[in-house]
Amino acid sequence: MSREATNLLYLVTIVTFVLALRFLSNPATARRGNQIGAIGMLVAIVVTFAQNAVVSYWEIAVGMVIGGAFGAVAARKVRMTAMPQMVALFNGVGGGAAALISLAEFHNLAPDPGTLKTDISTSIMLSAIIGSISFAGSMIAFAKLQELIGGRPIVYPLQQVTNALLFAAVVAAGIAIAAGAEQQWLIWALVLGSLLFGVLFVLPIGGADMPVVISLLNAFTGLAAAATGFELENNVLIVSGMLVGASGTMLTILMGRAMNRSIANVLFGAFGQVAPSAAAAAAAGSSDGQVRSASAEDVAVMLAYAHKVVFVPGYGMAVAQAQHDVRALADLLESRGVEVSYAIHPVAGRMPGHMNVLLAEANVPYPQLKEMDDANNEFSRTDVVLVIGANDVVNPDARSNQGSPIYGMPILNVDQSQQVVVLKRSMNPGFAGIENPLFLNPKTVMLFGDAKESVEKLASSVKAV
Ligand code: NDP
Repeated sequence: MSREATNLLYLVTIVTFVLALRFLSNPATARRGNQIGAIGMLVAIVVTFAQNAVVSYWEIAVGMVIGGAFGAVAARKVRMTAMPQMVALFNGVGGGAAALISLAEFHNLAPDPGTLKTDISTSIMLSAIIGSISFAGSMIAFAKLQELIGGRPIVYPLQQVTNALLFAAVVAAGIAIAAGAEQQWLIWALVLGSLLFGVLFVLPIGGADMPVVISLLNAFTGLAAAATGFELENNVLIVSGMLVGASGTMLTILMGRAMNRSIANVLFGAFGQVAPSAAAAAAAGSSDGQVRSASAEDVAVMLAYAHKVVFVPGYGMAVAQAQHDVRALADLLESRGVEVSYAIHPVAGRMPGHMNVLLAEANVPYPQLKEMDDANNEFSRTDVVLVIGANDVVNPDARSNQGSPIYGMPILNVDQSQQVVVLKRSMNPGFAGIENPLFLNPKTVMLFGDAKESVEKLASSVKAV
């Protein structure tokens, strides 16, 4: 295929990727966005295959069959609640692939020191460093989320100094390579040092912050891929890598904002390591007040006679897979003339958009989904809020208890409504591992049990009212 035709088709691919991102930004068009992106990717692969530079088609085909089969099975089998781990794994292998290509290119292009052009050696060392950090960091994030290792931050004395020194050593090796010291052992040392840094960088970050870290590492993988594009002189890789880098960075910033935390605090704050004073403050807060539990029949009466009901879904709804039953209950209430909406906290669940995806799966009409600010404006005129497996995102301590680890995180102000019903199985805390005074609020009643079973019972009880 001629160079012009290749570049033209690569340009088409790039346009499809940009369009895909555009469509992905809205739940109503997200599926189409995914399809457009997949078609673009197919064009990119076919065009790349049509290059004379391909050394062995069958080796690539074997890799694609193994990788494709793994991806297809994983996409079908993995539960929605385990999606962040899967993203971490897939993101990590992307970074790892970029690092491996750098090793191979360095081996092929620089058989003797001093033979590489600076722009190529700089790209090689950048993709080797960033790709290796992304791979190792993503694997630790995966292990934390999969609970293969503890989710709590792992901290030890002089941790940040050690990390800074290690990173400085890796950068020094990179500069030496770019300056012409093209020894093979040096790039291996650089890759091993970067892998170690990736591990040490993520270990002190708590499990609750893993999705933010994954988003950041995703941006890293994009940059590593872009650097690989420079190495291989491949435009589509450069642009798509930059798109991933930019969107990953934006998502990281938005998630930090939703938790009212700076990215530096997420990365270096060892969040989740509850300070003794905070634990004491939380415990002190829980000593007054009483927990009131209600039956499904009691709650059904409240719901049936309400004018306005707001559902607040959280991680527990995802665990119980209660979204279809929630939708059925909402339909039932609407048929009785109750105004129904859903309040979506940006970090409810375990990944960005988690609740939107589940509710979209249950065909909840998009206009009924209210983002946090809009929802907060409506609670004061809401009769009943049904909190379904949410905990941290409705914890009023984030607003008022300076000792709380989540102090400052914007929350859904459900306690401003007339009545709050919390559906969960026990008094256990949520992801942040802290008490929630909302459960002791005189306006609150608890409906204990699995969310799916409780919502089913509510629906049958509402029918009986
Ligand atoms: P939480 O993790 O705070 O609480 C979930 C609650 O669901 C638990 O208290 C649990 O209580 C309950 N639950 C679990 N299983 C069931 C079930 N089968 N039926 C009924 N209830 C159940 O969830 P939130 O959504 O409120 O908050 C998300 C947390 O994750 C926040 O701390 C957020 O910062 C963090 N996070 C989220 C990110 C994201 O992108 N979404 C990113 C980074 C962090 P019980 O065991 O008693 O049933």
